[in-house]
Amino acid sequence: MSESEDLRQEIVACTKCKSLVGSRTQVVPGDGSENARIMFIGEAPGFNEDKQGSPFVGQAGAFLNELLALINLKREQVFITNVIKCRPPENRDPFPSEIQNCRPWLDRQIALIRPKIIVLLGRYAMASFLPDKSISKVHGTAQRADGMTFFAMYHPAAALYQQSLRETIKQDFLKLPEILSGSREALVAEKPPGQQLSMF
Ligand code: URA
Repeated sequence: MSESEDLRQEIVACTKCKSLVGSRTQVVPGDGSENARIMFIGEAPGFNEDKQGSPFVGQAGAFLNELLALINLKREQVFITNVIKCRPPENRDPFPSEIQNCRPWLDRQIALIRPKIIVLLGRYAMASFLPDKSISKVHGTAQRADGMTFFAMYHPAAALYQQSLRETIKQDFLKLPEILSGSREALVAEKPPGQQLSMF
């Protein structure tokens, strides 16, 4: 079995959160290419994801597919996962303990895939990696932290309730190819001014 399949099997067998194991239909480990250059991290599986075992397959997922199409990408070319891999009952917010329990899975997925850029969808993903930043300030910009490049965005589900965010999310998304191609201007570094960046 490949390393990624091994990891997947470990994740789907997880029973760490007593608050989730009883109510989930199944674990939703994440889908996509292990060679992905872009990894997307959302919050948690919802109703449809819990039933189907794949992330972002409901309405928010339809918008995410639309966004990917904007930059000529298919889901199979990226990797999509969530901060927590099991649906919280009634779609409540994830508990801090659940986020903590699930973090080693996410860290192992990142270590295995080694994406060039990690797109943080919404506040839970953002709080996990850029705890000191505010989404309203950094959305649509690349941020370096812990040796990785992050790109924070409003959660696609937010656009379902707030139409005005739809265009903001699209405009942010359209910046991804430039960042992936390594444009210096597109990067906001956590390094002293003048120091060269050499990540791409
Ligand atoms: N919202 C998320 O954050 N993740 C999903 O997988 C679906 C909806």
